[in-house]
Amino acid sequence: MKRICNQCQTEMINDCKVNVEYDLSGITISQKRKGLFKNVSAKTKAAVCPNCGNVAFYIDDYQIFNK
Ligand SMILES: [Zn+2]
Repeated sequence: MKRICNQCQTEMINDCKVNVEYDLSGITISQKRKGLFKNVSAKTKAAVCPNCGNVAFYIDDYQIFNK
């Protein structure tokens, strides 16, 4: 999926790893579920704009948040 920079409309570079300094596991997004289902979580990735340096965070398996 193409990502377009919302600052300068340049195509962004996907699939960059997100690391928090001193924590190599990066940023994890999670969502609590009602009922018996387990919580869902996904690792955050980043897209970088090569033109202006804007960074956008996203996750690949976003569908699991929508059930
Ligand atoms: Zn840009």
